[in-house]
Amino acid sequence: MNTQPNIKASDLKPMTCTECGGMYFRQVMAINKVSRFLTGQDKDTVYPVPVFRCDDCGSVPEEFQPEIA
Ligand SMILES: [Zn+2]
Repeated sequence: MNTQPNIKASDLKPMTCTECGGMYFRQVMAINKVSRFLTGQDKDTVYPVPVFRCDDCGSVPEEFQPEIA
């Protein structure tokens, strides 16, 4: 069983930075904290959320913004 979607090179659309047009992105971690008063834990809980930022100008494209529930 081949469950891989059949993606051709011509189907790939490189994302570009909306600020500078750069094509290269770097994965960084946004760290979200949840107050210990909400979780009942001894310490605040830390949730790392991976985001991609432009390697050239450092801006985070809107579709890469971490979703804050
Ligand atoms: Zn950029």
